[in-house]
Order: sequence, then structure tokens, then C-alpha cells
Amino acid sequence: MPAQSRTSVAIVGGGPGGIGAAIALSKLPFLQVTLFEKNPEPREAGAGISLSTNAWKVLDLLGASEGVKGGSKQNTYQRNAYTGKVISIAEHPENSAGEHRGSIRARRTRLQRELLSKVPEGIIQYGKKLIRQEDLPTAGVGLHFQDGTYFVADLVIGADGLHSVVRRTLFPDHELRFTGNTQWRVLLPKALLAHLPDITSATGWWWGEQGHVYFSDVDDETETDDPYFEITVRSYIEEFTAGETVSWGIPASNAKVASRVLQFDERVQQAVGAVPEGQWREFSAYAGPRLAEIIGWNKVALVGDASHPLSGAFGSGATFAMEDAWILSRALEHTHLSSEPIKNALEIFNHIRTPYYDRMCGSHLHQQCPSEGGDFDDFLQAKVDMFINGDKDFIYKNDIEKVWREYLQEGQAKL
Ligand SMILES: Cc1cc2nc3c(=O)[nH]c(=O)nc-3n(C[C@H](O)[C@H](O)[C@H](O)COP(=O)(O)OP(=O)(O)OC[C@H]3O[C@@H](n4cnc5c(N)ncnc54)[C@H](O)[C@@H]3O)c2cc1C
Repeated sequence: MPAQSRTSVAIVGGGPGGIGAAIALSKLPFLQVTLFEKNPEPREAGAGISLSTNAWKVLDLLGASEGVKGGSKQNTYQRNAYTGKVISIAEHPENSAGEHRGSIRARRTRLQRELLSKVPEGIIQYGKKLIRQEDLPTAGVGLHFQDGTYFVADLVIGADGLHSVVRRTLFPDHELRFTGNTQWRVLLPKALLAHLPDITSATGWWWGEQGHVYFSDVDDETETDDPYFEITVRSYIEEFTAGETVSWGIPASNAKVASRVLQFDERVQQAVGAVPEGQWREFSAYAGPRLAEIIGWNKVALVGDASHPLSGAFGSGATFAMEDAWILSRALEHTHLSSEPIKNALEIFNHIRTPYYDRMCGSHLHQQCPSEGGDFDDFLQAKVDMFINGDKDFIYKNDIEKVWREYLQEGQAKL
């Protein structure tokens, strides 16, 4: 199909949501897809990423699951951070040795590399920071970039993450707030920690009153003799300093991170102390209310963190972003011969994904915040229960292909 007769789609942002959208949409011959990423080259801040059944499902659909490998989560230990006492051990029997299709923790760069390898040549433009978009009265959306360039698209997909410019333009009253949570993350050779008892033998959560520390493999040890390991230190009580730049992937000193675990078990302090200076990266967690709609102007859709600023809640946001992208592509394929293909597709996308986020936030997000009162043991139990109790299969076992099939069977599938 000649380029000028195709519908032009601009994806803003090259995270899992944007790249997932680029893969899925570039398979539709009636679309002309361009992805604009602000960074000058592929970049991925952060350390590891957890992938469960829901992730494998959507990665399969994108044709991008084969090369994603990581550390298998055989057992997960929840501990009291001060005494090291084991509160619970969750076993993952599906993660038999050598099986990488259960729950894994992978390097973020590994996921990104695999996704990028599936994007056709010529679709991604780097160094393109969106600063403003406008609803053009005739048709389409005008995109203004920091480098002074301008682009007009029939459909815009805002995949520009938590601090989305696309979302801000559509919903200027929507505000993010600092949650008080800050994380410091690092990947380091596992060998540096091997002498510390109980640190590298399993995935570990060490829960304290004002924060926790998380330890995990991130490499498949059948692939390498020098596997890396992740440490994340999280504090729940950081102060917000007005006017300060949002910290996202900026370096943090060893002294700063060590000061957050001073009361923790000696093994945790030693593990944190084993990190070479200059390696820690700091991430401040911002979150915002759920949006009632994740579409706008009949020609803009929000995917991933741009659409649901959950700030890492549920530890599955990359998967949500790819699921959004895949559903949007199915909807566009489905409506493409209708009288108003973009508008109809966006309504379907919104109809399927908004209730899903509603269910997550409404019925489950409160479990992230154990109620006030009670002693430390109650607090600890509530944190641990959050992991092992409650039905979260609708998240971690979500089969996005089935969701689409069910939509078609609802009998109200819009054309
Ligand atoms: C601490 C933490 C831990 C997490 N752990 C997990 C986990 O274990 N598993 C999991 O699945 N998820 C996890 N998440 C969530 C996950 O990281 C996000 O949900 C996911 O990255 C969202 O993908 P996205 O594509 O929507 O946005 P992002 O990954 O944020 O990507 C947005 C992209 O847009 C680009 N961009 C931004 N603004 C502009 C602009 N103006 N113009 C052009 N480009 C722009 C950015 O450079 C970036 O490349 C975690 C999140 C946090 C904060």
C-alpha cells in the first residue's frame, strides 16, 4: 500500500509500551508507523524486571519471548529485616530447573534488546522529545519536538511513561504526587555477595518498618559463568523537596543508601556495603489517580505508565504496557474498514483496558498499604499476605489473547 494512503500513527516513547506498539502496529499494512523517543539512543534505567505468565503471553504474541532470559524464581523468602526471621517461603513449582517460562527476573536491558530486535528498520527516530501536541481542527494531531521539528499524525499513541506529555495535554488537571517512596537499585556480580549467608541463595524480601530490601537473580546461570544479582533498597518515608527535580536513574552515594538500612540485619548491611561506589541509581516514585478514560480527541490513546500512573505497583507495569499495545493493535485491525476506524478502535481499546485498571486499583491497590495501627508484626504479616494471599491471577496470569476473543464473543463488538 503506498505510504500516502496509509493511516499515519505516531508513537511517543520507546519503553516496553511504545516498542510493543511499534511491533504490533507495523504488522498492519494499512498503517504507517513512526516511533519518537527522546533519548539519543536506546536507554533503559533500572535494574531487573519481573516477568510472569501474563508477560510470556504477550511477548509470544509480539514474537519477542525467545531471547528473554533471566533468573528463575524457584523460591521467594519473606523475612523480618531486623532479625532475618523467615515469615514465609513461596515456592514456584512451575519454575523447574532450566524452565524459563515461569516467573523470572530479567535484566531490563535484555527485555528491551529483544523487543527492539523485532521492530522493523526505519520506524524509530531517536533524539525526539515531544514538548507539545495540538488537536488539528481538520484532521490529525500536530506534534512539536524540542529540536524544532513538527510531525502530523492521524493517530497518536502516548507511550511516554509516568510523566507523560501526551497525558498532560489531554488531561491538564490530572496531577502526580510524590508517594514518599524512593528506591535505590543496582546490578552487581553475584560473586561479590556469595560469602554472605542467605543473600544469594533465593529471591529475598527483607521487610522493615520504613522500608525494605529486595534481592534477586537477574541472569540465567546456564548462559553465563558470571551471573549478576539485583539489590533494591526501598524507603517509604522520603521527604518531598518542592522544586527539586524528579530523581529517576540518577547516581546515589553508598553512604546515602547505607543510611536507609542502618537497623537492618547484618547480612543486609554487608550486602549493601559490598556495592562499588558510584553504582547505585535512585528512583523517586510518583503516582496519580486512575484516569476515567485513556483516550482523547478521538485520535489519541495512552498506553502503559502514561495511561495508568501506578508507580510500579504490582511489579508488572511493563507487561500492562505491552498488553495495552497489543489490544490497541487488534482494535485497529478490527475497525479498519469501518466508517470511523480510529474513533471506533479507541473506544474498543478504552472499553477493554479501563475496567481492567479499575479492577486493579479499586479492589487490590489498597492491599499495598496495610492499615494504620497495630504493631510491627501485624504490619509485616500484612506485607507478606499481600504477596501470598488474594486473587491476583487476573493480573499475573492474564491471557490477553483470550481477553480479545471474549470481547469479540460479547456480541457487541463494534465495527
Ligand atoms: C521501581 C520500579 C520497579 C518496577 N518493577 C517492575 C517489574 O518488576 N516488572 C514490571 O513489569 N514492571 C515494573 N515496573 C513498572 C515498569 O517499569 C513500567 O510500568 C514500564 O516501564 C512502563 O512502560 P512504558 O513503556 O509505559 O513507559 P516507560 O518504560 O517509562 O517508557 C517511556 C519512554 O518514553 C520516553 N519519553 C518520555 N517522555 C518523552 C517525550 N516527551 N518525548 C519522547 N519520548 C519520551 C522515555 O525516554 C521512555 O523511553 C517497575 C517500576 C518501577 C518504578
